[in-house]
Amino acid sequence: MIDYANDLCILNKMSFRFYHENIILDRAPHFRKDKMWLTSNLKNTNTRVIPVWQDKNLFQENNKETPSPIILSGATAQNICNEARDIVFLGLVQNNIYFAADINNCEDPYSMGLPKRSVFADLRLLATSIDYLEAGYLAYARALVYWGQNNQFCGQCGSKTKSINGGHERKCISETCSKSIFPRTDPAVIMLVTHPTDDKCLLGHNKKFQGLRFSTIAGFVEPGETLEQAVSREVFEETNIRVENVKYQASQPWPFPASIMLGFTAQATSTEIICHDGELEEARWFSRQEVLEMSNSDNMLPPPKLSISRWLIDTWLEKF
Ligand SMILES: [Zn+2]
Repeated sequence: MIDYANDLCILNKMSFRFYHENIILDRAPHFRKDKMWLTSNLKNTNTRVIPVWQDKNLFQENNKETPSPIILSGATAQNICNEARDIVFLGLVQNNIYFAADINNCEDPYSMGLPKRSVFADLRLLATSIDYLEAGYLAYARALVYWGQNNQFCGQCGSKTKSINGGHERKCISETCSKSIFPRTDPAVIMLVTHPTDDKCLLGHNKKFQGLRFSTIAGFVEPGETLEQAVSREVFEETNIRVENVKYQASQPWPFPASIMLGFTAQATSTEIICHDGELEEARWFSRQEVLEMSNSDNMLPPPKLSISRWLIDTWLEKF
C-alpha cells in the first residue's frame, strides 16, 4: 500500500464533475520509446505498478463495505513484473512512475506474492465508491491491458504482434507485414433532450439498466457521420423524437472497454415518443419536479452520481 496524501492534496484543490474526467497524470509520451529508461525505472522505489488480470484490477478486502484499490510499489511488484506478459508505461504523477502489468498469462495470479486479502475485481462495479484519482489510474491501466489482450494477433496477416513504445503500440512480427496497431477509443454521444414547449426533458429506461433507472439517451457514433448527426439519429432511433440545436457540453472517458462519452444538449422539435429499436424499454418526458423526486422514489432511479448523464441532468436542473 502506498501513501496518496500528496495526490489527494492536489485533488482537494481541483474540482471535477464526473469520474475519469481528468486524472492527474503526465502521460510523458517522450519516455515511451526509451527502453533503457523504462527498464531501469521499473524497480525504482518511486515506481507504482497496477496489475491487471482478466480485465480486473486488484483490491484489498477489508471490513468496510468497499474494498480499496491496491497499487504496488516497484519493490513489492518484482515477481509480478518478472512474470507479466507485457508492461505498459502509464505516466508520471509527481515523483512517481506508473506502470500497468498485464498478467493475463498467469493462471493463478494469487501465487505471485500479492498482499494478504487481495482480490481481483471489476472496477466498473467499484469505481464510484473509491478514490477519484485511484479510479482514474486503474481505469487507464485496465483499458491499455484490455487493448493489448485483444490485439495479440495481426488483423491483416494473422501473425503474432509484440508490444512496443512502452505498451502504446503493437507491431506485427511478420517482416513482410510489420503492421502497427494503436489503441482505439470509440466515440459515443450522450444527450439531454429538452421538450419543444414544456419545461421537461427526455429520459429513457434501457432494459440493461439495474432497477428502474432512467437516463439520458446515448449511442455510438457510426463511421462517416458527424457528432451532431449521431445525436439526431440516436434520439430518433430510440425515441422517435426529432431534435435541433445540438450543442456540445463536455466529455467523460469511459474505458470499459474503450469509449469516450461526448455530452450534448439538444432541443426537440417533436413530442410523440415511440421506442423504435428495442434498445429502450421505455422513454418519457420528465418535468423538473419529477426529476427532482426521482431520487426519493421507491421505483425510479436517476443516473449514478459522477456520471456525465447525471451531470447533464443536474446542469439542466440548475439552469432555472
Ligand atoms: Zn501482420
